[in-house]
Amino acid sequence: MSRIRFDNRVAIVTGAGVGLGRAHALGLAARGASVVVNDLGAGTDGIGTSSEAARAVVGEIREAGGRAIADGADVTDPEQVQAMVDAAVAEFGHVDILVNNAGILRDKTFAKMTLDDFRKVVDVHLMGAVNCTHALWRHMIEREYGRIVFTSSGSGLYGNFGQSNYGAAKTALLGLMNVLAQEGARANIRVNMLVPTAATRMTEDLLPPETLDLLQPETITPGLLALVAEDAPTRMILGAGAGCFAETKIYETQGVALQGDDLSPEGVMAGMARIRDAQGQQEMPGAFNQTRKYVRMAAEARGLP
Ligand code: NAD
Repeated sequence: MSRIRFDNRVAIVTGAGVGLGRAHALGLAARGASVVVNDLGAGTDGIGTSSEAARAVVGEIREAGGRAIADGADVTDPEQVQAMVDAAVAEFGHVDILVNNAGILRDKTFAKMTLDDFRKVVDVHLMGAVNCTHALWRHMIEREYGRIVFTSSGSGLYGNFGQSNYGAAKTALLGLMNVLAQEGARANIRVNMLVPTAATRMTEDLLPPETLDLLQPETITPGLLALVAEDAPTRMILGAGAGCFAETKIYETQGVALQGDDLSPEGVMAGMARIRDAQGQQEMPGAFNQTRKYVRMAAEARGLP
């Protein structure tokens, strides 16, 4: 197994002052990357700013002999994000890796959720990642190299009571990844999704105390490093927690082709067992693979060529 290194690679890690982002920044720097340690220094609810945490991480990296600069851009502000990218290029010459990690929580049941709290969470997680990725996209295409990770969550992929805003934002990133993995492929840009579960200030009140030792952020970072390595996969959803790693996949069942009287709500209900049957399920490389599959099934059912 050859050792994965990031020498001559430049990485931006958002929300890297504490928690997972800090562990990722330290992990990248320890293996040779120059790192932009971005952090607004906000509270878990997104309120407040402080440059202290990002500076402290930069201090740790430099003390260990690495290269890093601190950046206080708010990822929801495209101008600040552009200034961060400009500063990274001015300092290190280029950017190869983007780890979209910054995040906040504003948990409430949907009945009690204000639209402002919904919007704010979408703004940080989805638009924050969009702003950072957009600011780097052409740069990566021109350089024919890019490794991008979006940080999602089981709350979105699997659901979690009280997190409609967060779950929606986190799963919106899945659509972004699916499309950008296709658009970036020719330019050697690989786009993946990390789905962590870790003991950080974000989860300190949510996780059972006896699990906190196992769920340290450093147990996630090896997975992140694999997703941004030279030989990284693309369009992978990598679950990570407590040193365990698993892939989440989306499959479509074989399904049924209905026609005549069966092409009705009653026919769909009656066909539900076959519609849901996992036998023969398959991954869809793209949206029109689904369309082609349905056209083929419908034609076969009707005896058409
Ligand atoms: P954290 O609260 O410890 O760190 C989040 C960081 O993001 C903070 O340093 C904060 O200042 C920064 N941030 C917030 N808003 C920002 C903004 N607008 N611009 C720049 N920086 C901003 O949280 P964490 O647990 O380390 O989470 C990191 C990422 O992982 C988040 O996207 C989170 O949603 C995701 N995640 C975490 C868990 C978990 O179990 N901890 C689970 C699933 C997903």
